[in-house]
Amino acid sequence: MSSTHTIADEAESFLRRRQAEITTPGEGECLCCYVMRQLDEFGCDNRLRHALHYRDVLAPRATGLAASLSRMGGYCDCELFMNGYQLRGEDSDAPRAVLPACVGVRRGSVTPCGNWVRIDRY
Ligand SMILES: [Zn+2]
Ligand SMILES: [Zn+2]
Repeated sequence: MSSTHTIADEAESFLRRRQAEITTPGEGECLCCYVMRQLDEFGCDNRLRHALHYRDVLAPRATGLAASLSRMGGYCDCELFMNGYQLRGEDSDAPRAVLPACVGVRRGSVTPCGNWVRIDRY
């Protein structure tokens, strides 16, 4: 019986807890703020991994989410921010380094909060 095992176990469960904290959408956190936060942490895997996780956890009835994101050019999580939404007032040549705190949305909604505006390409 060695105490090093205990320390290692504690570190591991700490990491697991931290992982769970990061990947769980915050109370009232909107789709875009959540996905942006996940992209910072885990990057994009060329799917709507984070967006669909958000939906599964908070808005399971938004079954058309992937289709509606694709329609605005968001075929994966990072494209959502290239083609779909940008931070309000953001200059695309000088992206803001720090994400503002989420303004918050009603639970079950997949509409982004007031931090975000639709990218108008035309
Ligand atoms: Zn991507
Ligand atoms: Zn938000």
